[in-house]
Amino acid sequence: MPQTSRKKQSAERGKALEILRGTFGFADFRPHQGEIVQTLIDGGDAIAVMPTGGGKSLCYQIPSIARPGTGVVVSPLIALMKDQVDALRQYGVAAAFLNSSMSYSQRRNTEDALIAGKLDLLYVAPEGLIGGGMLETLANIEVALFAIDEAHCVSRWGHDFRPEYLGLSVLAEKFPSVPRVALTATADEMTRREIAGQLGLRNAEMHIVGYDRPNIRYMISERPDARRALLDFIEEKHPSESGIVYCMSRKGVEKTAEWLSSKKLDAIPYHAGMTKEEREKNHNRFLREEGVIVVATVAFGMGIDKPDVRFVAHLNLPKNIESYYQETGRAGRDGLPASAWMSYGLQDLMMQIQMVDNSEADESFKRVERSKINSLLGLCETAGCRRRSLLGYFGEEYGKSCGNCDNCLNPPETWDGTVAAQKALACVYRTGEMFGVNYLIDVLLGKDTERIKSFHHDKLKVYGVGTEIDAMEWRSVIRQLVAAGALAVKTDGYGGLRLTEKGGAVMRGKESISFRKMPERKVSPAKAKKPPRVSKADISEGDMPLFHKLRELRSRIAKEQNVPPYVVFHDSTLAAMAKEKPADLVQMSFISGVGHAKLDKYGEQFLKVVKESA
Ligand code: ADP
Ligand code: ZN
Repeated sequence: MPQTSRKKQSAERGKALEILRGTFGFADFRPHQGEIVQTLIDGGDAIAVMPTGGGKSLCYQIPSIARPGTGVVVSPLIALMKDQVDALRQYGVAAAFLNSSMSYSQRRNTEDALIAGKLDLLYVAPEGLIGGGMLETLANIEVALFAIDEAHCVSRWGHDFRPEYLGLSVLAEKFPSVPRVALTATADEMTRREIAGQLGLRNAEMHIVGYDRPNIRYMISERPDARRALLDFIEEKHPSESGIVYCMSRKGVEKTAEWLSSKKLDAIPYHAGMTKEEREKNHNRFLREEGVIVVATVAFGMGIDKPDVRFVAHLNLPKNIESYYQETGRAGRDGLPASAWMSYGLQDLMMQIQMVDNSEADESFKRVERSKINSLLGLCETAGCRRRSLLGYFGEEYGKSCGNCDNCLNPPETWDGTVAAQKALACVYRTGEMFGVNYLIDVLLGKDTERIKSFHHDKLKVYGVGTEIDAMEWRSVIRQLVAAGALAVKTDGYGGLRLTEKGGAVMRGKESISFRKMPERKVSPAKAKKPPRVSKADISEGDMPLFHKLRELRSRIAKEQNVPPYVVFHDSTLAAMAKEKPADLVQMSFISGVGHAKLDKYGEQFLKVVKESA
């Protein structure tokens, strides 16, 4: 390597840290970020697999700024480009985007700036990059790097396949000397191989950051009145904070949003049945305003880049663990404490299984789907650490207990359920392995119903043998028997239950089984241990008023500029200001998230609020 270029490289390396601190105002790189940045600055290729909120953007933003020329970022999420560009401009970075939503003159302006070498970063959609002469334009200017975001979209078998992504293989051919980086949060082995193969990144440095999201607290349980429990959860743990509530159906969405609104929460619906305008309006309110709760079907998903979503709640069972992890992953991207809360019932489970059974898919596909539902149920019913079981599902070993999930914080009590299990299993067996949960429970409790009489099941030995526990508890027992693989839902689409081999063994007393206790349903207020508030854990009660004042100022600025508040400053930055109480601009510049440009633009205003409250 010639002397000059080596010298240039080491200067560029020093630059990386300078940009991280000066421009973005962050003290240090996160694990892997520094290495990826350096690889790209040195002209190498990389594949970065990082969980949501892991900090993928800086991996290509900093080298784009450090290297001569423009960094070209390929992203499928057109809706997000504007916010990303707005956020970069706030940091004083020359960024722009090109997409189909722009007018001719807007396009022209951006292209002129690109050709004149005025841009550090340019965001484009894959079809915009491959078509319309864009590649020719780029061939005539200096390109700092190509970043392919959401790179799993290249996978034909994945959930977000986009055919346009296959065209990106030309980048390797046409720009062999320009470094490329592919980024994704989807980490399975097959997808990784496809990314490397399809994008010509076989020699790229692979960086895989674990799946864990340590700031998310997982809480899962079955509750008799899920909506009420949700309200309690929000009021207690996340008052006036942003969150997403997922429901299975549109009707569920409408009803839940109405109900939460009637309880004075700022809740708005989002589902595919609403008009495009209504959806956009609600999406925007969620992004731009503080403390809005969106109640949504899974249609509300891709492209929620809001970093300060403090909770994601599921009022129904999600589709499988992959969906659950993706959906809950939208909470707490900023790294501050966040909650993933779920309430589910046996009914959800039956519905999921029936949906699979009644679908057009072939039998082998259905088998996979059913086993996924069972894994999900296993997660819901486990008495062990949720994080351990989640990560285990993705093939990551997590040796310890996390201390940040419901089971770790409040270990469930268990009871020897062998006798109860035998009764339930015998009831399934004696009634001919064809009935659903409600009927079985009626038989166990000895209910006097026409249906039971018509089958002469009131003459069975199991009729009325289960009165020692109530219907709620029986549901829990049956669910746990399904989760333990002792009972299986029949695949005929009617939701009847049958015994498995293991179920037979338990019924005959050859295997014992223990169940987790139902959580206490009514805890008297005096006895209830008040769990600490999940979010803003870093802010003491005394600093709260200042934090709120800083947020008010941020809201005003964001409104004036028509950008989401987090683009001005993140909650974590305001929290640090409230705690540190900087006395002057120099001290202000040490707060994480306050770079040069933001210090110039907002330093004085925020300092004034801090001083006034002193
Ligand atoms: P991803 O794209 O991986 O989901 P982002 O790039 O949006 O994540 O980063 C998530 C959050 O973490 C952002 O708010 C970002 O500003 C912040 N962040 C990233 N890297 C750092 C760092 N080194 N120090 C402090 N905050 C960081
Ligand atoms: Zn745990």
